[in-house]
Parts: sequence; C-alpha cells; structure tokens
Amino acid sequence: DHLNFYHLNLRRLNLRLQSLRRLGVKGVQIRKPDQLQSVTSLIIPGGESTTMAKLAEYHNLFPALREFVKMGKPVWGTCAGLIFLANKATGQKSGGQELIGGLDCTVHRNFFGSQIQSFEAELPIPQIADKEGGPPTFRAVFIRAPAILEVGPEVVVLADIPVSSSKTVNPESTEGSTSSEEKVIVAVKQGNLLATAFHPELTADTRWHSYFLKMVDEVGEGASSSICAVGQE
Ligand code: GLN
Repeated sequence: DHLNFYHLNLRRLNLRLQSLRRLGVKGVQIRKPDQLQSVTSLIIPGGESTTMAKLAEYHNLFPALREFVKMGKPVWGTCAGLIFLANKATGQKSGGQELIGGLDCTVHRNFFGSQIQSFEAELPIPQIADKEGGPPTFRAVFIRAPAILEVGPEVVVLADIPVSSSKTVNPESTEGSTSSEEKVIVAVKQGNLLATAFHPELTADTRWHSYFLKMVDEVGEGASSSICAVGQE
C-alpha cells in the first residue's frame, strides 16, 4: 500500500524539510503531477529507484517531471534522485527502469554495494566551500549509494572520491576496470540540475541545501522549494 509507504518514510522527509527550514525556506511534498505547476524548484529524494519509478508511473508523474527539467527549473536529485535524473543507469536491477533523464551522465545504481556497505566520507568540496564558506570538506553519508561513471562535456564535477573510500566495496558492483586509486564522481551540476550520490539532509551542514537555493535564486524564481517524494526518503 503506497500510503503506508509514504507514512513509513516521513522521518527522512521531515529531516529534509528541517534542512530547508533552517535556511528560511518552506518545502512542500509533491505526489501528483498538477502539484508541480505550483512550485519553482524540486528536490528528488533518495530511496529505492525502482520502487520510486513504479510510484511515479502510478501517479503519472514522469511527463510532468521531464517537462519541469526541460523548462530549466532547478532540480536536485540525491541518491536515487540522482539515478532518476541520469540519462543512463547501469548496474544491478537497472533493466527497464524508467528515468527522467536530462543529466548527461551514466550512473551505476549500486556502485558502493548494498545497505550494509553504507559509509561516511570526508568529501573535498572545493567549489561548494568557495561559494558557501566553511570547511573544505563535507561529511557525506552514502547509503547503498550510486556513483557517476561518465559525464558529458556540459557537466561540472563538484565532488569525487577514491573508490577505496568505501572500505567494504563490493567487487561485483565495480564493473571491471576500477582500481583502488581510481576515483568516481559523486556530485555534479549541469545547468539547472544538481545531483549528489550522498544524503546531505542527514547531516547538520546545510551548505548543499544553501548552494541549491542559490541556483534557484539565480533563475529568478525565488527560493521556494518542493520535495518530490515519489518514494521513500
Ligand atoms: N542504490 C539505490 C537505488 O538503486 C539508491 C539508494 C539511495 O537512494 N539511498 O535506488
């Protein structure tokens, strides 16, 4: 029952709303396509992207989400939200899953392995620290996290980490050629799109939220933000 589903996951939704509230912004939860018309920017949360895709299909959200992205409105995808925004997804169970697309990259859905292989890392964030101030790194929480394997020319890389940061990385999930020295991309920006493989709503550092709200201000829409909770957060 999808209503139970939403209910079960209200806690993280509330954490996200709290992060926005700390920055003086009210977030609203979006479940239906017509609700998208009343908001100026969108955060697509983490969760489980196959389930989220099914729920988005059930609510007929995909056409409206694609339109929202094409209109140049700011959209931030975290974790499963990143997968949703990618033009291409690979990795376990990726077959046939519908994506919104728009972000010119290939993402590996479960690059860092399963739930028990979740980890935290001190992530260097030079561009974010430049714009938002604060320390040069960000404590990033990765939960069954995806990673970006390839990006197109218009994509700006905001953070990457050595593959070995996740000490318990699943060799099966790294698809061939990755060595421990190699880095994978975990945060990018492309025009109106922002995407992070980790969960900034789980830590007190609000710089990613603040960075996104500046993107919203730049397109002149005013910093009102909505949260597209098509699945669990
Ligand atoms: N790897 C998950 C997926 O495929 C995403 C995990 C997350 O959002 N925390 O959907």
